[in-house]
Amino acid sequence: MKELTCIVCPNSCSLKIEKVNDVWVVTENKCKRGEKFAINEMTCPMRTISSTVRTTFPDAPVVPVRVSAEIPKDKIFDVMEEINKVILDKRVKRGYKVISSCLGLNVDVIVTSNILIEKGAIHE
Ligand code: SF4
Repeated sequence: MKELTCIVCPNSCSLKIEKVNDVWVVTENKCKRGEKFAINEMTCPMRTISSTVRTTFPDAPVVPVRVSAEIPKDKIFDVMEEINKVILDKRVKRGYKVISSCLGLNVDVIVTSNILIEKGAIHE
């Protein structure tokens, strides 16, 4: 029996999961999404990442980014290392891919703000 906190919604339910006759049994979840979350946590835990990348522009030295889909939890540090290597040297819009298919995971790292073009419009 393992106890988990569901992170799917703000209720943060405490769940219990155990394998009974080779089948995962989840209890104390308030909804089916909690059951799915708990089983995924035991078999292939996934997470999303939001972070920032550096730029060469003093008026916006960092811009926010996120991964385009969830990644395996055990790849978080590897993906963060790739994100930390990026230095943006052009003024790009929200949605720009700073990394395509990061580490072959079929997940992109994309810019989530227009701050670079907004600041550029003011200063250029
Ligand atoms: S079990 Fe359902 S209600 Fe509870 S935190 Fe998870 S998603 Fe929310």
